[in-house]
Amino acid sequence: MDDYVLVLNAGSSSLKFSVYGRPAGTGWRLESRGQIEGIGTAPQFSAKDSNGVVLGKTKLDAAVRDARTALESLAGWLAGRYQGGRVLGVGHRVVHGGAKFAGPTIVTPQVLGELRELIPLAPLHQPYNLAAIDAVAERLPDVPQVACFDTSFHRGQPAVAELVPLPKHIRDTGVQRYGFHGLSYEYIASVLPESAPEIANGRVLVAHLGSGASLCAMKDRRSVDSSFGFTAVDGLCMGTRPGSVDPGVILYLFQNLGLSAKEVETILYKKSGLLAISGISNDMRDLLGSAEPPARLAVDYFVYRVAKEIGALSAVLGGLDGLVFTAGIGENSAEVRRRICAASAWLGIELDAGANERNGPRISRAGSRVSAWVIPTNEELMIARHTGRLLGLI
Ligand code: AMP
Repeated sequence: MDDYVLVLNAGSSSLKFSVYGRPAGTGWRLESRGQIEGIGTAPQFSAKDSNGVVLGKTKLDAAVRDARTALESLAGWLAGRYQGGRVLGVGHRVVHGGAKFAGPTIVTPQVLGELRELIPLAPLHQPYNLAAIDAVAERLPDVPQVACFDTSFHRGQPAVAELVPLPKHIRDTGVQRYGFHGLSYEYIASVLPESAPEIANGRVLVAHLGSGASLCAMKDRRSVDSSFGFTAVDGLCMGTRPGSVDPGVILYLFQNLGLSAKEVETILYKKSGLLAISGISNDMRDLLGSAEPPARLAVDYFVYRVAKEIGALSAVLGGLDGLVFTAGIGENSAEVRRRICAASAWLGIELDAGANERNGPRISRAGSRVSAWVIPTNEELMIARHTGRLLGLI
């Protein structure tokens, strides 16, 4: 086995991984990907190769209860599968790089300290991302690590796009619009010249529609605005997050319903959005397959919010040249794409129904003033590329 780069995406109860081998001369080659889920409850390991062939699926000992023990378990599997291969570097998805980290960075003790200061800005993700970095540093102290941020791609936006118009002493604590899903948008921006050359240097909206959902407005493949703001609750309706709500509603929850901050957090991150509207599921497949009125309303609201945001961000761009769909819903649901494009027909999007059913890549008609596309995202490959570049491996 060749030497490889390991990509980690650590959450509160899961550790997702991808292994990229480096073939001579060309790009990164996916060797395997998988995850340890149910960390702390019923841990389970699964892995597949690049063709989707299952390489392993096993229940793990209950002792796998945190990043350190999960990494130990993963390291055991990697050592068995990739005998003789060295880990050249580890690239991490880190949700928050704050205002400072406008690109990926090699992890040093000082960088780690600065990233810890951002924990209050992303308390449900950042601590777990950093725990994985700590765990690797403990187990493989000589292996370099790279932190790749979901916020970086959005740095450099105009001041008005980043502004949260609250008193200065509050803004000075870091309250601004950051934007997320940046690794996904950066990947799409990187493949646009090849996948959709006629819009690559124009005004493009990318709709990352998955269990988390957002839109990014790009000019010349750079982010100028996005629907996510200070946190990943803002903007579009998501699986369990509401997207934008009047801040007065949040005050009402505290002042009139007497909810605690923890209860409000749980409602905003885990109990709202498609799940709350439908009362059935946060999974778009279940909702599209249901005839229940609340499930239909959930899909209607999802489409309505995306179309409304497409209008708003088209105004930011001063017009639109192309619309790109990506992530779980964006890549797989012809029905949702059809409805969003129909609601956006006024912008000049004319859908090619057959191409849409085939999942693209181009799903608009030849004469459509605004073209529409389906381009699969690949955040892990983006992390592998950054890691390889920063560590001088390519
Ligand atoms: P992601 O977070 O990008 O993995 O996307 C996950 C979401 O994609 C799931 O919650 C599903 O709702 C959605 N999804 C995946 N496949 C389909 C499909 N064929 N039709 C509709 N939604 C889908």
